[in-house]
Amino acid sequence: MRINPSIGPDRARAVFDEELQGITTDAALRDLRHRWLARSGSWVAGFMDLLAAAAPAEKKALGRGANELKRHVEQALGDREAALAATKRPEGAVDITLPGRQPSLGFRHPLSLIREQIGDIFSRLGYQVLEGGEIEDDYHNFEALNMPEEHPARDMQDTLYLATPVPPPAVPPPTRGRAPRTPQPLTLLRTHTSAMQIRQMERHDPPVRLVAIGPVYRRDNLDLTHTPMFHQVEGLVVGRGITLADLKGTLTSMATALFGEGQQVRFRPSFFPYTEPSAEVDIRCIRCQGAGCAMCKRTGWIEILGSGMVHPAVFEAVGYDPAEFTGFAFGMGIERVALLKWGVEDIRLFYENDLRFLEQFGR
Ligand SMILES: [Zn+2]
Repeated sequence: MRINPSIGPDRARAVFDEELQGITTDAALRDLRHRWLARSGSWVAGFMDLLAAAAPAEKKALGRGANELKRHVEQALGDREAALAATKRPEGAVDITLPGRQPSLGFRHPLSLIREQIGDIFSRLGYQVLEGGEIEDDYHNFEALNMPEEHPARDMQDTLYLATPVPPPAVPPPTRGRAPRTPQPLTLLRTHTSAMQIRQMERHDPPVRLVAIGPVYRRDNLDLTHTPMFHQVEGLVVGRGITLADLKGTLTSMATALFGEGQQVRFRPSFFPYTEPSAEVDIRCIRCQGAGCAMCKRTGWIEILGSGMVHPAVFEAVGYDPAEFTGFAFGMGIERVALLKWGVEDIRLFYENDLRFLEQFGR
């Protein structure tokens, strides 16, 4: 601090008092003390230098003024230090004047949201909503669904078998239906939730109206659109006089509920072992409304599920008379619906549990 000799100790005191006004922290107070009282370079040290060089006639007045300034500064700094200490919170005390911390609330997972929405849609239509076990035997997952051993259709689904067979779940034995042809049933992670349809039909007479929702497993590598575990919803309706028109009406109302009013669906012939006839079902592209875009590969349509009329062989397996009853079935991936509905491009995001991603879907 360069001392301006034209400022006498009285003016300097006014400068100090003004600076002291703005001091509210210990650090600022230390800095102020240094600038005014340090042995060299401070205001007080500057006046002492002036005093040493002053003419004898000026020495007395200047000396008194400098000493008074020094005492005043020391006193004022000491008072302010005490005042600051008095306002400090005791250690461990809670400052009740601080704004509260918002607790961070959890979010519903987007896949749970879709799963519940689909469950609600079908509950309102009078369907039973089932989950079922994730470990199945070969019979319920394949054989009873018209895929006996060596059936080429089994290649459509790469299966994860369990090294050690697991005992079947403790449920009452089926009331009808034929015995499995496979003598030593292999156990596996279910490749679709259709096994639940068989178990339900084995125990209940028609009419049947159910959706089975839950995780299924395939031997797939993880990439943008595949995961070894994903979620499916499968529906089954059996009764007298159930037709393809009932299937189309049901799927159209589901598509409307999921993707909005006026949603159109179209059926394309396909093949599944457990339905005949079978159809892949497309919806109007929800991004371009049918005009053609990258998401629908310029076709205006997006494949969303597989469906068909239940194959008579499936009815025979569970002891229903195919001459008396007809039914329809459909199966759809929950992840696929979520990817389309929200325009998510990488399925892996649903499993990484990054809160920044999950928070975007509401509670
Ligand atoms: Zn499109």
